[in-house]
Amino acid sequence: MSIPFVDLHAQYLSLKDEIDGAIARVIAASSFVRGPDVELFESEYSALMGANHTVSCANGTDAIYIAMKALGIKPGDEVITTAQSWISTSETIGQHGAKPIFVDIDPVTSTIDVSKIAEKITNRTVGMIPVHLYGQMADMPAIMAIAEKHGLWVIEDCAQAHLATIDGRKAGSFGHIATWSFYPGKNLGAMGDAGAITTNDAALARHMACFARHGGLVKGDHEMEGINSRLDGIQAAILNVKLPHLAGWTERRRAVAKRYDALLADVPGIVTPTEVAGREHVYHLYVIETDDRDGLAAALKGRGVPTVVNYKRSLPFLPCYAHLEHRPEDFPVAHRLQGRILSLPIYAELTVAQQDQIAAALHEVAAAVA
Ligand SMILES: *Cc1c(COP(=O)(O)O)cnc(C)c1O
Repeated sequence: MSIPFVDLHAQYLSLKDEIDGAIARVIAASSFVRGPDVELFESEYSALMGANHTVSCANGTDAIYIAMKALGIKPGDEVITTAQSWISTSETIGQHGAKPIFVDIDPVTSTIDVSKIAEKITNRTVGMIPVHLYGQMADMPAIMAIAEKHGLWVIEDCAQAHLATIDGRKAGSFGHIATWSFYPGKNLGAMGDAGAITTNDAALARHMACFARHGGLVKGDHEMEGINSRLDGIQAAILNVKLPHLAGWTERRRAVAKRYDALLADVPGIVTPTEVAGREHVYHLYVIETDDRDGLAAALKGRGVPTVVNYKRSLPFLPCYAHLEHRPEDFPVAHRLQGRILSLPIYAELTVAQQDQIAAALHEVAAAVA
C-alpha cells in the first residue's frame, strides 16, 4: 500500500464538520478578506505563542519581507542567515536590495553554526535571520548575545517550528520579530497560502500591519506606500478550527519521531536526527542521512514509500546565487549534507501500520545493500 508523504486529507477528515461549517459561515457573511475570523485568529495566535502582537499576512514569505521592511532595511545592507533553508529566507533579503550573507550550518542540527557568525559581521551588517530548520530551534541564546553585542536585529524564521522550545522557551520569543507560515503542509496549515508575524514591540506591529495593508489600517488612509498581503477570512476560519489541535498534533509528531528513532536505530548506514538536550524538536520534517541518498530514495519509492529532499541544494549553491561565486569549501557542512539528506513521511495522522511499513522497507533496502 502506498503512503502519502504528507496526508492533508486525513487531517481534513478528522475535522471535516467543523471546517465545512467554518467555511460556510465565512461565505454566508461574505467576510472574505480580513474580518472577524482574522481578528480572532490574531488574538488566539498571540495567546498560544506568548506574543503581544500577531500581524497576519498572505504567506510566510511575505512575513519575512514585511518584517525586514519594518526594521528599516535598505539597499546595500547585509543580512546574516543560514546556508540551509527554503529560498524564502534569503530571497526576501534580496528583494530589499540587500545581500544575504550565508553562514555554514551546525552538523548536528543543520541550523546556523553560531561559532561562524562573528567572522561574517561587517559594518554593513544590519541583522540576522536564523531558521529553526526541520522543527528544531537554532541556538537562540547564543544568537541573541551576538546580536546584542553588535547592535543587530533578529528575525526568527519559525515557518517549520510552531511550538518548538529551548529550555521551555518558545520559538519566536527570542528575536525582535518572528515569522510564520501556514502553508498547507506546515505543522499548522491552512487550505491555501497564509502567514503571520509575531512581536512584542507595539510600534513594529503597527508598522507591519500598515505596510501589509496598503500602508494603512483604515481604508483610504494611506500613511505609507505598502503592499497587499492580507489573510483571507476562509483561511483564518480554518486556522481557528485547527489551532486548538496544534499542541496535540505536535505531541503526535514527536511520538512518531521517537518511534522512528527506535525502529531505525539498527539500520546500517543511516543516521537519524539528533534532538539536542534542552530543545524540543517539533519534527516538521524527519530528516535522515545516508551515503547513497538517491539510491535509497529510489529503492524506497519502489516499495511504496515516498521521500523528499529538503533541500537538494543549499542556498549558497542555488543558480540564483551563482553571481556570489560561493565554493563548496566556503560551506563544507551544508555542501556535504545536501547530498546525504532524505526526509521520511511524518505527520500527526501517520498510522503505526504505515510507520511499520516504512521502517520495514528501510531494513529491507539496507539488507540488500549490505
Ligand atoms: C515554508 C517556509 C517559508 C515560507 O512560507 P510560505 O508560506 O510558503 O511563503 C519560509 N521559511 C521557511 C524555512 C519555510 O519552510
